[in-house]
Amino acid sequence: MQTGFSPELLADPAMRNSETVIRKCVHCGFCTATCPTYVLLGDELDSPRGRIYLIKDMLENERVPTAGVVKHIDRCLSCLSCMTTCPSGVHYMHLVDHARAYIEARYRRPWTERFFRALLAAVLPYPRRFRLALGLARWARSATPLVARIPALRPLAAMLALAPRTVPAPASARAASVASPSGRVALLQGCAEPVLRPEVRAATVRVLNRAGFDVVFARGEGCCGALVHHMGKELAGLDAARRNVDAWTREIEQGGLAAIVITASGCGTTIKDYGFMLRDDPAYAQKAARVSALARDISEFLAGLAMPPAAARGLRVAYHAACSLQHGQKVTDAPRHLLRQAGYEVVVPAEAHLCCGSAGTYNLLQPDIAGQLGDRKVANLERLAADVIATGNIGCAMQIGQRAAVPVVHVIELLDWAGGGPPPGALAAADYPRPR
Ligand code: SF4
Ligand code: SF4
Repeated sequence: MQTGFSPELLADPAMRNSETVIRKCVHCGFCTATCPTYVLLGDELDSPRGRIYLIKDMLENERVPTAGVVKHIDRCLSCLSCMTTCPSGVHYMHLVDHARAYIEARYRRPWTERFFRALLAAVLPYPRRFRLALGLARWARSATPLVARIPALRPLAAMLALAPRTVPAPASARAASVASPSGRVALLQGCAEPVLRPEVRAATVRVLNRAGFDVVFARGEGCCGALVHHMGKELAGLDAARRNVDAWTREIEQGGLAAIVITASGCGTTIKDYGFMLRDDPAYAQKAARVSALARDISEFLAGLAMPPAAARGLRVAYHAACSLQHGQKVTDAPRHLLRQAGYEVVVPAEAHLCCGSAGTYNLLQPDIAGQLGDRKVANLERLAADVIATGNIGCAMQIGQRAAVPVVHVIELLDWAGGGPPPGALAAADYPRPR
């Protein structure tokens, strides 16, 4: 695609990178067929190609973003399905991240949007605040139908509807050691996952220990920054990245790390991008690139190991591929392979490439589109008549779990169970049989 960025604009590294991305697009439109918002809405401006045109026009002419342009960019899930489809290698993720930061700096949203976005940024990345908010949401849940009738309060209604009925007790993050370990890994503690599903971390530690790895939790580490980064809050995203780079660099330098293991694939995609996000920061560029190179999704890490024997025959598992894992990190076979190796029957739904509508804070900020995608995803999953749905991202687990009659668990919980660990909480509650 031809561009008309001025030399002054191209002096800005972010603009220069976006111009390089845009120039790679050959307008072929292959990406439209796999874009969830285009599939649902049928509007070219809600397709990757349409958004690339909007972003190009906004950036190269230094336009103040209009409400119309912001609407189409906001509707993008950042699912990155378009990147999997694109034959020209257009790095849409970096382009839309830049567009979001540009919009955040130059566009004044209506006060309700500003309020909800600020609220999400102030609560979700902090486990204590998030737990408190979930506790409050339980009391306010009965007001959901009333709140949903007021258009400006739809995000609040979506938050109340998504809040689980019970919040699990907090689990302490203790480092676990094995005798004569074959290596040492850092496990991301995360922010939302340990509040909503603390059992995922416990299962991960057990599986890593059985595979012969010491597990450490880096002091000072926090939210990966994806939630604020995807809302265009660039400085907050970079602060989170720097804090985590510092924390893991200390661990690398003190005891060495074989990997930085991540159980929420949305976080993994962002941590693998720290090297790019901090590329122009002389104090962090090298350290961030090293951290990104060590980042591994748990399934990706385990697939490279000789796993101890497991026995889980008898359960039919519908595998939901999170977009951040399949499109963002290109980890596709590993989770299914590990589950089959552990003895599960694995089935995959139709339209597996389409997003479930979770997408970080998307199901809170765009509840209508997210709801349609969630219903469509669950219908495809339930057609498989599986005993359980397994996925590798907490956001997907909550979005699908809110709608599905079948229990939803993390892949690692099934691997842990097959290897001798306790049954996943969601299955134990449903009184499922132990693996044979
Ligand atoms: S990231 Fe997803 S929603 Fe956004 S343009 Fe690409 S395919 Fe469409
Ligand atoms: S598939 Fe790639 S090259 Fe083709 S229109 Fe989409 S982004 Fe552009």
